[in-house]
Amino acid sequence: PKKVVVKVGTSTIVLPNNKVNLRTISRLAFVLTDLCNRGIEVVLVSSGAMGVGLGILNLANRPAEIPEQQAISAIGQSNLIGIYTKEFSIYQQIVAQVLLTRDVLLYPESHQNVINTFDTMLRRRIIPIVNENDSISIDELDHKTAFSDNDELSAIVTEVADADLLIVLSDIDGFYTGNPHKDETATLIPEINEIDDEILSYVGGKGSKLGTGGMATKISAAKRVLAHGKPMVLANGRNPEVIFDILDGQEVGTLFT
Ligand code: ADP
Repeated sequence: PKKVVVKVGTSTIVLPNNKVNLRTISRLAFVLTDLCNRGIEVVLVSSGAMGVGLGILNLANRPAEIPEQQAISAIGQSNLIGIYTKEFSIYQQIVAQVLLTRDVLLYPESHQNVINTFDTMLRRRIIPIVNENDSISIDELDHKTAFSDNDELSAIVTEVADADLLIVLSDIDGFYTGNPHKDETATLIPEINEIDDEILSYVGGKGSKLGTGGMATKISAAKRVLAHGKPMVLANGRNPEVIFDILDGQEVGTLFT
């Protein structure tokens, strides 16, 4: 592939105590810069703002009030981008923050603007680091500017950036025949060509405390990119060097194609 979108989940970026997982972030910076150096265009979609914000404020759980959550996300997002900027700068890699809401992509002018921005950054070998603009997005039914989750966002970014591949990194090795944390007999499915009822029946609930979607949102992201003729790989983000193996064509995680 010449252009890839990599999405990292909260569970990959934030430790269970809401502190930043520096080991993973620093390896991610190394791997993604190396891809860039080899001429592959890279977009990073990163979750974790809420978790990082909670960690900074020494809170264990997110508060119930939406404005509180949005303020905490804003704190976390700026700190997280600060860490990414520093880690990538070790390898002289320039990154840029892009915060999106659904409405931006609904209007043709702003939609085209986002396309142009990605285009310009990628041509200049800059890695856009994308997240939902959590601190202002609204999740009301009649005025929904929030994305359902960052899995959906990463599928949309794959379309907008016209990437050839979406890599979703989570805290699990791939898609199983059930939630492996609850069902010991669940086995990994290496390749999925169609999201049918059987596949949907394997989807269990969310695993981590701050992870938003669990497998349901990853499967709908896969459905979305497949509908646009693009493949998706779901793999474990514990060791981001797994991205090298994926691009080398090795069988890792679950390939949706
Ligand atoms: P992230 O923070 O990376 O988005 P989530 O916690 O939201 O991750 O989702 C990953 C979790 O989904 C896994 O850890 C697992 O507990 C759960 N899960 C549910 N069903 C499945 C399945 N069929 N295969 C793999 N994992 C599953």
